[in-house]
Amino acid sequence: MTGGLEDRTALVTGGGKGIGRAISRALAEMGARVVVNYRADADAAERTAHEIGGVAVRCDVTDGEAVQAMIKAIGRVDVLVNNAGDVRDNLLLRLKPDDWEHVLRTDLTSAYHTTRAVMSGMLRARWGRIVNMASVVGITGNPGQANYAAAKAGLIGFTRAVAREVGSRGITCNAVAPGYVRTELTRGSMTEEMVAEIVKRTPLQREGTPEDVAAAVAFLCSPGAAFVTGHVLVVDGGLTC
Ligand code: NDP
Repeated sequence: MTGGLEDRTALVTGGGKGIGRAISRALAEMGARVVVNYRADADAAERTAHEIGGVAVRCDVTDGEAVQAMIKAIGRVDVLVNNAGDVRDNLLLRLKPDDWEHVLRTDLTSAYHTTRAVMSGMLRARWGRIVNMASVVGITGNPGQANYAAAKAGLIGFTRAVAREVGSRGITCNAVAPGYVRTELTRGSMTEEMVAEIVKRTPLQREGTPEDVAAAVAFLCSPGAAFVTGHVLVVDGGLTC
């Protein structure tokens, strides 16, 4: 997709690698000035920012005060993509409180911090696009991912509540729910056998790519999606259809 976001500033949390990197690139192609947020991997974020003529900004999005400071430093944010996420998989009986808290903070509370921080600017501008990165796991559940499923399901509820709250002010809030995509996040937790099994059950008979997910995000930020809000766009090759 090209065009549609000229003169807009987009913030992509976790925008330096994996799905976030593809989103940063897609929004830049649409004309946005992209801020590539990262937590730890400065090299990846700097590389992505350099490729697209954007800037890389370090901020742990689980830290509300740090998020406020980041948004203040950026100035206006017109497009917010809450993409940062992490997993700490384990069966419920072995799931430690720290692993529960970490995933809830990273995948859900972070969106509360960032969305709240950009909201007054979007309300003033009477325009904004917010896209939250959910997962099909937040819809179907998954054994070993009670924390992640709860966080992503929470993000879907958050998306719909915010959509209803700010729709009258020209701000849309949607979610994208990908199926399996090969990235650093899934590399540690999925064996090749598990991936082959997923592909077998996927009507489109392949893995998803970061670009598949980025195209859905780009659509939700495009002029063509101006009347779409509170929606969860599943990008899973038909796995959960
Ligand atoms: P990656 O591990 O490749 O990327 C995760 C990104 O999130 C990194 O850029 C990381 O930055 C950033 N991040 C993590 N914690 C924080 C934090 N506290 N503050 C700021 N940034 C942070 O994963 P994916 O690209 O696979 O995942 C992107 C999103 O897509 C996640 O929300 C994930 O849950 C979701 N998703 C992924 C699927 C998949 O199959 N891959 C399927 C469904 C959803 P850094 O490296 O600098 O720490």
